[in-house]
Amino acid sequence: MGKNIQAIRGMHDLLPDQSPVWHYLEDGVREVLDGYGYKELRTPILELTELFKRSIGEVTDIVEKEMYTFDDRNGDSLTLRPEGTAGCVRAGIEHGLFHNQVQRIWYRGPMFRHERPQKGRYRQFHQIGAEAYGLPGPDIDLEIIMLTRRFWQKLGLEGLELQINTLGTSQERAVYREQLVSYLSARKDQLDEDSLRRLETNPLRILDSKSPDMKVVIAGAPSLMDYLGEESKAHFESLCQGLEDVGQDYVVNPRLVRGLDYYARTVFEWVTDKLGAQGTVCAGGRYDGLIEQLGGRPGHGVGFAMGVERLVALLEENREQLPIKGPDAYLVLMGDEAQRKGLVLAEQLRDRLPGLRLITHCGGGSFKSQFKKADRSEAALALVLGDDELARGVIGVKALRDDKEQREIALDDLAEFLKSEI
Ligand code: ATP
Ligand code: MG
Repeated sequence: MGKNIQAIRGMHDLLPDQSPVWHYLEDGVREVLDGYGYKELRTPILELTELFKRSIGEVTDIVEKEMYTFDDRNGDSLTLRPEGTAGCVRAGIEHGLFHNQVQRIWYRGPMFRHERPQKGRYRQFHQIGAEAYGLPGPDIDLEIIMLTRRFWQKLGLEGLELQINTLGTSQERAVYREQLVSYLSARKDQLDEDSLRRLETNPLRILDSKSPDMKVVIAGAPSLMDYLGEESKAHFESLCQGLEDVGQDYVVNPRLVRGLDYYARTVFEWVTDKLGAQGTVCAGGRYDGLIEQLGGRPGHGVGFAMGVERLVALLEENREQLPIKGPDAYLVLMGDEAQRKGLVLAEQLRDRLPGLRLITHCGGGSFKSQFKKADRSEAALALVLGDDELARGVIGVKALRDDKEQREIALDDLAEFLKSEI
């Protein structure tokens, strides 16, 4: 026998104890999305590599060094999706969802990036994202941001900061880019290795550098805001006004950039200081050029993606306060007759009380060991049925989460009693 096989580095099992927090998040998020009229789109986890090269762009970290790419048995180059937008746009074009239509869609699922694993950064991680297509104005940008704000409200997450910026149009960025490159080229001695490389390929991303040594040179760089045309300015001002109208605080962060040509105007992030370096839990923006870049007619898109693991980590900090409950009851069964009748009773209860969360003890064992399992199940109540109780037509009821004495109720009254408890 060889040694045990383990999961791949940076890819994690979601264990049964952890999944209730994920469900709490997923259910809450889904309810909010539904409330805004967004519908789910599920795309395959594998796509042709070409899709990501063309959408995310050859000069990004993702395409340069993070993708899980391989040839399948036919020799086609396939990639495990590193993000969700490319697949959504591909599907939208393929199924004609964008032509003269507004679409509000969302997606969820695992994403794959070959990064250095650390807290909040994994090689398989999960995103939930939403996108709105076919709308050019700042009204939908605001809706998208409000949708994300409502997630935090719904989930009880506090202290997230909204950062926004505008990237103008690709023409405006081209002019700015020249100014930026000449500013940075004159200061090459202050640039780190990554930034020197980006100076040639993707200079806007230098503004996003997380290296402390780069702070000073970045702070002195020309600002894209000064290169915006009237329309871009008006778009941004209208978004800011909208945020003020709905009472949402925000910080304008000129270093919030995406280095790709298809981005347009609005970008935003929700950031927390509770997760160390991996503090961005949600990132989004407008990417009007993408549909055309992938072969569709010119269109409009705006959306975001949230890092589920990072949000779960925030929720875990206050797990005690989450409305996550154990089962309603655990049925302890002592003796052969009780065991047989108990399983029938459990099915009758489930028939009568939809939504009842009941664990029936299986596998026999002593009273003590059954009671221990009842307690460990985090059930609110233990129901105790022995041959003696059965003969008398009663069942023992013991509250497991407080000190109340065990009592008996008539079996005939049990369903009514449970109804009032659940
Ligand atoms: P970063 O700068 O942290 O690498 P990014 O710009 O690559 O982030 P996006 O592609 O915008 O991230 O993804 C949206 C969100 O998905 C991020 O804000 C983050 O919450 C989450 N995310 C991205 N990469 C990872 C990862 N490797 N592990 C866990 N969560 C991730
Ligand atoms: Mg990244």
